[in-house]
Amino acid sequence: MKKTPRKPAPVTRAKKAPATVKTPARAAKTVPAALRGEDDAKRIAKMLEILNAEFPDARCMLDHSSPFELLVATILAAQCTDAMVNQVTKSLFEKYPAPQSYLDAPQEELEKEIYKTGFYRNKAKSLKSCCVSLIEKHGEKVPSKMEELIALGGVGRKTANCVLGVSFGIPGVVVDTHVRRLAGRMGYTEESDPDKIEQDLMKITPQKEWTHMSHLLAALGRSYCTARKPNCAECPVEHLCPKIID
Ligand code: SF4
Repeated sequence: MKKTPRKPAPVTRAKKAPATVKTPARAAKTVPAALRGEDDAKRIAKMLEILNAEFPDARCMLDHSSPFELLVATILAAQCTDAMVNQVTKSLFEKYPAPQSYLDAPQEELEKEIYKTGFYRNKAKSLKSCCVSLIEKHGEKVPSKMEELIALGGVGRKTANCVLGVSFGIPGVVVDTHVRRLAGRMGYTEESDPDKIEQDLMKITPQKEWTHMSHLLAALGRSYCTARKPNCAECPVEHLCPKIID
């Protein structure tokens, strides 16, 4: 995986952080003044420094050996753990090595193969539709432009940013379930729409950090800041987090 450094995006976020937040115990807590508004850029820079030390091996956790395999794995990762996707793709990638293989497979057979990842009917349709576009418009190759990727069937900005960042070294914020949850708990966004969360995070981090930041936040989300029970007492960035927890 290569990263292509780009000119840093301007850090101009002036959005006001909420004055009142909730701790895990649901007691009111005020975001320290030093952690508000445009200081989000400084705060996230400090967090990334700490998370880099805490998770030196943070990376995309989806097993793959080509942009096409990553594209398939990312489509399957919706509402599913990376570990389960890796379990399923082990045999899937052997059985269906190219876009044409997915088109040749009967719908029911493909559904059976990806059943364990959940939402298997829709995902099978997405895979077939994506492969049709790859064959008809891109000579079976995965395109390396955002607008071309999101035009593929079943591919949204999260999947596109993942493929662009990991396979092509083009930075993008991957707003998966962990990043979405952490961006809110840490007070970097008040949005719930993934595209708006992506924009908020882009405003406060240098462009070259976008992909790796996503991996670091996901690593934090899997270890300390889980959906079910955040472990704030042991979290390495506790002192930088307003803990906005529903
Ligand atoms: S676990 Fe860490 S990141 Fe999550 S809410 Fe607690 S202090 Fe914040």
